[in-house]
Amino acid sequence: MQENYVDHLLFNGANMRSKVLVAYRYDCFFNILHELTHCLQTLSKQSDPKSWSAEHDASRIALVWMHQIVKENINNVATVYFSDAGREEEMYLYVLERVRAARRITGTADSAEQSCGKVEQEHLQGYEKWRESFGLCEPVQADAFEFAGDNITATDYLKYRIGLEQFVHECLLEKPTATTLLKSYFENRTGPVHQFDMNQVLQMKEIKIAPEAYIM
Ligand SMILES: [Zn+2]
Repeated sequence: MQENYVDHLLFNGANMRSKVLVAYRYDCFFNILHELTHCLQTLSKQSDPKSWSAEHDASRIALVWMHQIVKENINNVATVYFSDAGREEEMYLYVLERVRAARRITGTADSAEQSCGKVEQEHLQGYEKWRESFGLCEPVQADAFEFAGDNITATDYLKYRIGLEQFVHECLLEKPTATTLLKSYFENRTGPVHQFDMNQVLQMKEIKIAPEAYIM
């Protein structure tokens, strides 16, 4: 298999059918939970002018929530699909590969990659502020939706990386974290999200992502 084959398949569009199928298979499971979080934000009447806190919360919980649903072994479409040995692990590896592939894209001007944006040094620094502030510090100055329009690779990187790091953190803790995240997002938190001091939340062992969990 040629080097960087997965990057090529996932991002460079040489085999668009495979790209779509691989992405669709897994995204349709955990992205539902991402969008469900946005629905709960709306129901809670939360507001966030640039949407980076909203994106942090929805992206951070998706994989650990999926993991908890699968582990609960409720008879639904997700648990039936993931009951085959190795399927769940394959999903995490897919997300890991997306993060790593996005990080490796260093397109030059006029290349196909450049049109999707790439992960710049400033995005990496912004990502850390975003993660360490529980989403309250924006990783970039632009509005989350405007940024995504021109920088889909960097956007994918930020959103998948935070979900994956929360998942790795949970594995290291050997303790589910989705319920703690949901409480932190929604318990007595309505209106402008930036009015809430999240420092206490950030000290909770389920929330404070250990450096060992960082995906570079
Ligand atoms: Zn979102």
